[in-house]
Amino acid sequence: MTNNGFPSSASVSSDDFPGEEPARVTIDLGALADNWRLMARKSGKARTAAVLKANAYGTGLEPAARTLYQAGARDFFVATPQEGAALRPLVPDGRIYVLSGMWAGSERLFFAFDLVPVIASSEQLAVFMAAISEHGDHPCVLQIDTGMNRLGLTVAEAVALADDPARPASFSPVLIMSHLACGDEPLHPMNRMQLDRFRAAANAFQGVEASLANSAGVFLGADFHFDMTRPGIAVYGGAAVNGEPNPMKPVVKAEARILQVREAKIGEGVGYGASALLSRDSRIAVAAIGYADGYLRSLSSAGVPLRQAVVSGARGYLHGHHVPLIGRVTMDLTHFDVTDLPSGTVHAGDFIELFGPHMPIDVVSRAGGTIDYVLLTSLGPRYRRDYIEAAR
Ligand SMILES: *Cc1c(COP(=O)(O)O)cnc(C)c1O
Repeated sequence: MTNNGFPSSASVSSDDFPGEEPARVTIDLGALADNWRLMARKSGKARTAAVLKANAYGTGLEPAARTLYQAGARDFFVATPQEGAALRPLVPDGRIYVLSGMWAGSERLFFAFDLVPVIASSEQLAVFMAAISEHGDHPCVLQIDTGMNRLGLTVAEAVALADDPARPASFSPVLIMSHLACGDEPLHPMNRMQLDRFRAAANAFQGVEASLANSAGVFLGADFHFDMTRPGIAVYGGAAVNGEPNPMKPVVKAEARILQVREAKIGEGVGYGASALLSRDSRIAVAAIGYADGYLRSLSSAGVPLRQAVVSGARGYLHGHHVPLIGRVTMDLTHFDVTDLPSGTVHAGDFIELFGPHMPIDVVSRAGGTIDYVLLTSLGPRYRRDYIEAAR
């Protein structure tokens, strides 16, 4: 059906117009698989899980799950039972753990999709006990809080539970786990303290597997590996450890189309609030990307008082050069200062790399006073998504 010569909107998708997108992300599944294998090697004797919460850190649940399964992962962590239900058909024989645990009203999802709850509190334990008495035996994980004060039983509660003679024989956790608060700072005393507390809890559950390390924990060494590691951000190419070179391959490249290149005079202002005042005659490239795409406003070069980390703001990568963001990031548009590129190099229609192989995501996130986890999980729906398949 057409009206006035246009296809009806119901039959049109942006996929019908390749090459016309305002912005694109390219996700390198080969790098994803290589990163997981590197974490598996670094995990030594421990088994290595894959963490697929939040749409696989924004990279896309289906391609990430398929790739990591092919690389050898069989243990998968998600945040919610809904994420677990979406993952189940992608990894039919995988074990899926739900980090937020089982709350009253969510029980049926765990049984219907064969999901393993990571029990976070004694209330959740009671919900789980009631659920297995109704639906039958089911595996679970016990989360122990060893100092983060987020989720988990206290060590004392865990030890008491292990010794409880009234504990039903059918209740047998398949894993004891905890989470590090300061793993990204290798010398932080919390790491040792949490390790000692976790050992005490794990010892109370002899014969049950144990897991402590996220990505940063994998880098802390063999003491932290136990039976299973749970690397997330490193597998997606992020920097797990502060202040050290990032050994992971970049997985995500985000690029935006330049809509216009304009000349502006010394003394003029750029963008909302005229927050950037030009100290020279300048050439400015306006890119089709903004905070509605998850390119955060805190990446702005000026006029964002809350950001303390890197006063100069983010940069992009264009025609072999790093170029500074200038002015404030707006909802759909961002300015870059391309004055230092030879005139005639930058054109409308070019794509500028926001982060990726030439513009490390951890550098960009620091410029925005945030972390790479945030940039990845904020990638908005306007990006076209392309996947580079892993070699098999
Ligand atoms: C998200 C998460 C992980 C993965 O952490 P990274 O820092 O991304 O490696 C591991 N364990 C738990 C409990 C988590 O919530």
